[in-house]
Amino acid sequence: MSCTLCPRNCQIDRTAANGFCGCSSVPKIARAALHFDEEPCISGTRGSGTIFFSGCNLKCVFCQNMAIQDGTLGEPVSVDKLSATMLRLQAMGAHNINLVTPTPHRDAIRSALLSAKKNGLTIPVLYNTGSYESVDTIRSFESLIDLYLPDLKYRDDRLARRFSRAEGYFPVAMDAIAEMIRQVGFMRLDENGIAVRGVRIRHLVLPGCVFDTRAVLDAVAERFGTDCPLSLMSQYTPNPACKEPALSRRLTQREYDSAVEYCLSLGFSDVLTQGLDSVGSSFTPPFSDRIDLS
Ligand code: SF4
Repeated sequence: MSCTLCPRNCQIDRTAANGFCGCSSVPKIARAALHFDEEPCISGTRGSGTIFFSGCNLKCVFCQNMAIQDGTLGEPVSVDKLSATMLRLQAMGAHNINLVTPTPHRDAIRSALLSAKKNGLTIPVLYNTGSYESVDTIRSFESLIDLYLPDLKYRDDRLARRFSRAEGYFPVAMDAIAEMIRQVGFMRLDENGIAVRGVRIRHLVLPGCVFDTRAVLDAVAERFGTDCPLSLMSQYTPNPACKEPALSRRLTQREYDSAVEYCLSLGFSDVLTQGLDSVGSSFTPPFSDRIDLS
């Protein structure tokens, strides 16, 4: 099959070679565990049942999951094992199943979800993505995904090219997010403050790039309105492997405050913010070649 699952349009047969994302036709899981470092409405008190897939169709130079970006690390899994992993995370008490970088494994994930739901998976399923997505791929998940957390990274194409090798990022990301909102609306919480359905757009404020954060917020307000739930993240952590001088420092309090102030001045009504003290290694979980869910 010629892979056109994302805007890279590699058109290669992944049973024979890996794509730009580093993925073959068999999904690899680099970590499956309860994760407590997502937004409070996602991690809750019992944790988010997070499945980190190995490989990614973005190549962000500052990636906090750099160890799994190229698709090398991780345990190859069958559809049955993937489905069993979801059910095991639910049995461990997870508030949701959190699929991180799922796009290259659409067909296996769809089959695993159908099987898991048939066998008792009832908690919400979350699609956690860098938003470099094709509308057709997102549409194919309709009725299987309850929650979307698209990270809208850049408005400026120069940044998208330079930092993520993703030419033309912004328009495709916005169209993909529009399709997510069409499917499930804006994020709603239950009586305990846990997300049950809908979209929340994430945006990581990068050092020296508050101008682009403002442009992202302007565009979201214009297209989706200021009721659109946001998560404005401050957790940028310089990666020693990153060779970009502009990204060699943390975000300053002044930069983050300026981004939050601008966001609120536009009238956004549901904005999750972070303290700068949330920066740290806890956002980079340990990855491995084996899934250990004992
Ligand atoms: S999912 Fe991977 S192989 Fe397929 S088009 Fe995207 S980057 Fe290329």
